[in-house]
Amino acid sequence: MSYEAAPGRYENPALFARSGKSGLDLPRISLGLWHNFGGNDDFDTARGIILGSFDRGITHFDLANNYGPPAGSAEITFGRLLERDLGPYRNELVISTKAGYYMWPGPYGEWGSRKYLLSSLDASLKRLGLEYVDVFYSHRPDPKTPLEETCGALAHAVRSGKALYVGISNYDPEQTRSAAKILRELGTPCLIHQPRYSMYERTPERGLFDVLAAEGIGCIAFSPLAQGLLSGRYLAGIPADARAAKDPRFLTPSDITEQKRAELKQLDAIARERGQTLAQLALAWVLRNPVMTSALIGASRLSQVEENLKALANTQFDASELERIERVIGK
Ligand code: NDP
Repeated sequence: MSYEAAPGRYENPALFARSGKSGLDLPRISLGLWHNFGGNDDFDTARGIILGSFDRGITHFDLANNYGPPAGSAEITFGRLLERDLGPYRNELVISTKAGYYMWPGPYGEWGSRKYLLSSLDASLKRLGLEYVDVFYSHRPDPKTPLEETCGALAHAVRSGKALYVGISNYDPEQTRSAAKILRELGTPCLIHQPRYSMYERTPERGLFDVLAAEGIGCIAFSPLAQGLLSGRYLAGIPADARAAKDPRFLTPSDITEQKRAELKQLDAIARERGQTLAQLALAWVLRNPVMTSALIGASRLSQVEENLKALANTQFDASELERIERVIGK
């Protein structure tokens, strides 16, 4: 069946926020393709989630060279969708990809050299069937490559027309400040930073957010639900089709202790008092910070995206709610 995007997809006024001091708006909830969109996953399910997300106003889809498994196959999935369904909507989409983690053997298959970043970007464009991505990221800082070289490669990607904007991910506050300066001098200001941030992962609060606000860089938080922990998924056990059961490399069953489950139940009670689900509370909490442009979720079914988008109805917290949340998670 040929696809036609839902006409009312931009009707929710809470849907977009400006990324830092750039000219680019991003949806406050974006969809990442790290899990569930690889070559080993069901294509029709993946298609349903992505098209259903776009139908609900999610314009930003986040990839990396290594997403799959196998590595590269999430880009192939998205490329198939562009060819089959989303091609006519290319100008409505913000597609990002990254290079930094292991992709191929030898000294040029990971980290931050110009050699690796630019050849990886070419390979990503090929898999996606695109001439350019909207955002090209350095996926992680490289302690052995001069930052000037990594940032120079990002800037070159823009100058050569293969990316519209550049971003960085997993950089600490000092590395971020330095990268921001170099990129600005190169005429390709850093659009966005992608750190891990959730109620359970607070590192960005220790300096990174201040740097982003001062530099006018947007922020898109990955794993805002702590990979599904901060949702209704694990309240009563570990479902066989959940990430902790299916792919325990990243979220292990041993992470879901009785103590954790007790905390999740208390957070769930706070969510209910606000008229939200636990996932909605967790996303609203991430988005409460003005530096936060978008919460970058994953999903294994469209109903999760639908539930998560409703978090946008209330991203305000009063001081007593914030204190209660801190007490529950022991911060
Ligand atoms: P989340 O914390 O949003 O976890 C997503 C998982 O949570 C889903 O796969 C699903 O798990 C579960 N979930 C989501 N919504 C609901 C809901 N409403 N109810 C119940 N369960 C729900 O994010 P991810 O960890 O998936 O990361 C998101 C994206 O961030 C990635 O796709 C990637 O684009 C990016 N990322 C970037 C990294 C980087 O280094 N820059 C590193 C990691 C991620 P289940 O599958 O069990 O149903």
